[in-house]
Amino acid sequence: MSNELINVTSPLLPSIKDFNVLLEVIWEKKWLTNNGYYHEELESALCKYLKVPYLSLFTNGTLPLIASLQALRITGEVITTPYSFVATTHSLWWNGIKPVFVDIDPLTCNIDASRIEAAITPTTTAIMAVHCYGIPCEVDKIEEIASKYGLTVIYDAAHAFGVELNGKSILDWGDISTLSFHATKVYNTVEGGALICHDAKTKKRIDYLKNFGFADEVTVVAPGINGKMDEIRSAYGLLNLKQVDQAIAERKKIVETYCEGLKNISGIRHLDYSDASIKHNYAYFPIFISESEFGTSRDDLYEKLKEFNIYGRRYFYPLISNMPPYRGLNSSHTDNLSVANKIANSVICLPIYYGLSLENVKKIIMLITDFKKGR
Ligand SMILES: *Cc1c(COP(=O)(O)O)cnc(C)c1O
Repeated sequence: MSNELINVTSPLLPSIKDFNVLLEVIWEKKWLTNNGYYHEELESALCKYLKVPYLSLFTNGTLPLIASLQALRITGEVITTPYSFVATTHSLWWNGIKPVFVDIDPLTCNIDASRIEAAITPTTTAIMAVHCYGIPCEVDKIEEIASKYGLTVIYDAAHAFGVELNGKSILDWGDISTLSFHATKVYNTVEGGALICHDAKTKKRIDYLKNFGFADEVTVVAPGINGKMDEIRSAYGLLNLKQVDQAIAERKKIVETYCEGLKNISGIRHLDYSDASIKHNYAYFPIFISESEFGTSRDDLYEKLKEFNIYGRRYFYPLISNMPPYRGLNSSHTDNLSVANKIANSVICLPIYYGLSLENVKKIIMLITDFKKGR
């Protein structure tokens, strides 16, 4: 067996030849950023692909989170999930907002909607949820709670590029959703991101905010930031958009191979992909190890795979609420986050990316099987 290094992910890259053609156009136009030609083209191409009317490009996936809270003037406390990439909570902190963590659903790893009401206080203004691993949150329940209490809903949809629920984009739910186009995501522009809203007025306000608050040459209407995406990455993004469907189709085959290969190994659970109302993007393949059933700890399996040059990642461990900047916060007074802690201590995301051969997927399955047998 070869010992080729297999990482948890590998970026989707456009052909360098095609990219060069667009670079030459950019060099000729000498327009590098600030709503350039490819920027405008990518915004409309993404609107069409994602089936959303209003989308603003950003230079990464964190700034749209920060800008969404500014645009909607969110203050006080925001109910959120501890089980995510740190940027979700950081965006609240950068706005002077107190994150209030609520436990997650063990099956989806998303915020447990049935626990949200207990965490609402007089200073709660919004819910910031994450479609973790690209699996949709309980969007209808969250919407019901939000309208009952007059709360705003922001979805960090960094994992949910192209995901649909009942034939509609998952980005249709909530007041604002955000995407990340970081190199490690299903669709990337090297670094990049976007904010999706539902009306022209909000989009305009967002576009001011991402350009220092400038409404025109001499009018600054808000303390904005620089969140603009440049022409080079917009051009790259246009090329990657053409191959993302194929990349998702390949990811689907990888997920099916993992599911089939791991189904008889007791002590290993994975996400459920059988709900026909969801169009998945197969962004990640997390497995959850039950130490008592599998017979070995998550960390031992993780290290063992590394010995064979297989680099999974413990996404999301440690839990955000256990990280030094946030561990002093009381989460909602009713919530000890026991599910989230358990999930964070049992997860390994196995390698999945466009170009990962099914042969290598089978090799990973075999290693896990052997490890269980050979203990
Ligand atoms: C990747 C990611 C982000 C941040 O995106 P960047 O483009 O890296 O700034 C935010 N939230 C989640 C859940 C992510 O996975």
